[in-house]
Amino acid sequence: MSARNWVVAFLALLALGPLVLPEFHITLLNYIGLYALVALGLVLLTGVGGLTSFGQAAFVGIGAYTSAYLTTTEGLPDFVAWVGVSPWLTLPAAILLTVAVAAVLGLLTLRLSGHYLPLGTIAWGMSLYFLFGNVSFLGGHTGVSGIPAISLFGVELKDGRYFYYLIWLMVLAALWATQNLLDSREGRAIRALKGGAVMAEAMGVDTARSKLVIFLIAAAFAAVSGWLYAHLQRFVNPTPFGLHIGIEYLFMAVIGGAGHVWGALLGAGLITILKQWLQDLLPRIFGASGNFEIIVFGLLMIFVLHRARDGLWPVIRRLAPLRGARRKVESAGPLGRRTKPAAGSVVLEVKDAVKKFGGLTANNHMSLSVRAGEILALIGPNGAGKSTLFNLITGVDPPTAGEVHFLGGRVDGLASREIARRGMSRTFQHVRLLATMSVLENVAIGAHLRGGGGVMAAALRLERAEEGRLLAEAARQIERVGLAEHVFDAAGSLALGQQRTVEIARALAADPSLLLLDEPAAGLRYLEKQALAELLGRLRDEGMGILLVEHDMDFVMGLADRVVVMEFGEKIAEGLPEEVQGNPDVIEAYLGGVD
Ligand code: ADP
Ligand code: MG
Repeated sequence: MSARNWVVAFLALLALGPLVLPEFHITLLNYIGLYALVALGLVLLTGVGGLTSFGQAAFVGIGAYTSAYLTTTEGLPDFVAWVGVSPWLTLPAAILLTVAVAAVLGLLTLRLSGHYLPLGTIAWGMSLYFLFGNVSFLGGHTGVSGIPAISLFGVELKDGRYFYYLIWLMVLAALWATQNLLDSREGRAIRALKGGAVMAEAMGVDTARSKLVIFLIAAAFAAVSGWLYAHLQRFVNPTPFGLHIGIEYLFMAVIGGAGHVWGALLGAGLITILKQWLQDLLPRIFGASGNFEIIVFGLLMIFVLHRARDGLWPVIRRLAPLRGARRKVESAGPLGRRTKPAAGSVVLEVKDAVKKFGGLTANNHMSLSVRAGEILALIGPNGAGKSTLFNLITGVDPPTAGEVHFLGGRVDGLASREIARRGMSRTFQHVRLLATMSVLENVAIGAHLRGGGGVMAAALRLERAEEGRLLAEAARQIERVGLAEHVFDAAGSLALGQQRTVEIARALAADPSLLLLDEPAAGLRYLEKQALAELLGRLRDEGMGILLVEHDMDFVMGLADRVVVMEFGEKIAEGLPEEVQGNPDVIEAYLGGVD
């Protein structure tokens, strides 16, 4: 069965549900839908973006309380009172307020790295929970009752059977939009977060912005869930918005499959049904009442983390027969190209660059320049400081002293994505690809700055023309480096040498004026090296400036126009390959003085 048919079958079952199922099951499905919305936000945030949040329940609470308060409070000032007239007006209000709170919290916490971010989410998750319980106008721990039902086309959705359709319509809309977003330029930027900020920023992605975007989307989904909950229950109190529920949402996302949108649905369904069942069963077994199901969830979580790291969705997908859905890259028009510097003009100039790591001087008064249409090789023994210089030039690490000029402007101290925007593109010594993404998508990340489709446009599929051009460009670059038959393969499935070549294609997709390659020949076989040398020669002839860091002398000698040799952070020689090759200092550095 094709993916489309599975979806159609699922939709048909979903639509028929309320016509045949008993009340109890519909209630259960309603809750699954509400939870799935929150879990979907976590799929985006945690599974795709790698940002763990325990605090989503608090956002559900803000959504629920906003609508509850506005629709039940009498005597509000005129400028807000009109919102409370209908739940359809409080929906945007609930989303806006939640997103506004999330924006403040996000700006404060998202820059925290490692375990500090989850701790931060726990902190504000608890604060908001206690706020709900302690603010008198929100009814304290008693909560707010008398919340009106939602009316749709004049029908009051008091019956869970009708409300069901509203919930699932929203869940499906959220699934669709999320799926679309992930399959777009912005989505690739979001997925690139897991490849580390250095790689994403080098491709021009504003990683801080991408993180905030998914944080706000996750908060908005939680707000919608809260709004639905308030008008389904028609009563709210703080209990469902506590930290323990925040943890449960995370369980749902992780157990379902945090990297997959359908995993949110699976996780929400599984945990909700299991919880219901265990709440009936376990107290009878133990002969006492208590939240025994939490213990089972804990064990289940540990089991899943051991046996199916990526959650259960990928396991199920492997079981279900799915016809291969190899997307075709449509032939689309070309992307705009930047005006290139004139052949022979200086593109890059490093002047007296110094880099110190504490007491270690990794680069000491390094100077070099690269012209358009020239390959400059930077060589030297391991630890000489080549990668350090590379990082200074590309803006990963600012120099301690000295200047870097690129295309006539000073770039030292600029963020690496700003330098990328000006036309510098790079590969990494240690390959930084997204292993589970296709080669095509990996390379398309390189073209990030050549598109402009935003988050909303992507979610609504309004940027398909541009997306087509981006993917076509990526496909062209993959063909250019000779990997056309691997376009749809997962990048992680390629041999190391091929992965390095994918990195070159990704860098080329940016349409750079200067290409920086950190040890591109490492791990390549002889024929692959020859192909690489031929490719670099062609690029040079097209007018590209290339700075090549290399360990392999033989590879460099046949290819480079000029060579700079480093040792212990200093330049020890510079000149034509044959000059440098005969230089006694260089022989000493490479061979340790053995002649
Ligand atoms: P190469 O690329 O030429 O092999 P590197 O530039 O990676 O050399 O390293 C040069 C020196 O700087 C090495 O001694 C290395 O240990 C040190 N170094 C590199 N990066 C850092 C860092 N972030 N912190 C401290 N020392 C570093
Ligand atoms: Mg290095």
